[in-house]
Amino acid sequence: MNRKLAQTRPDGYFAIRVFHRGRRGKKDPRFLFKCGCCDEKLEVYYGEDTLEINGVMGSVENWRELLLPLLEVKLPGQGPTERAATESRSGPDESGPLRGLRAARSG
Ligand SMILES: [Zn+2]
Repeated sequence: MNRKLAQTRPDGYFAIRVFHRGRRGKKDPRFLFKCGCCDEKLEVYYGEDTLEINGVMGSVENWRELLLPLLEVKLPGQGPTERAATESRSGPDESGPLRGLRAARSG
């Protein structure tokens, strides 16, 4: 688990920092996820079948419905940009049908 600031991952982003704390008395165990570039944090307490994420309590099933599409990159706007696919199609086309037509008419 990374705990250091500004650790660049192979994907080019800073690694999220992760801290864990076990059960303490009545308090559920929790994960603390911190931004790789600053002190922003996300606190996740996990009980038997519930998760409390930044103070928002819900069943694990409920969180699964909400978060899984995000984590599996299934929503519109997610995923790698489509720029790479369209770039190869740009530029003037030198061998279009008009060129042959022009050559046949001249002379
Ligand atoms: Zn940050």
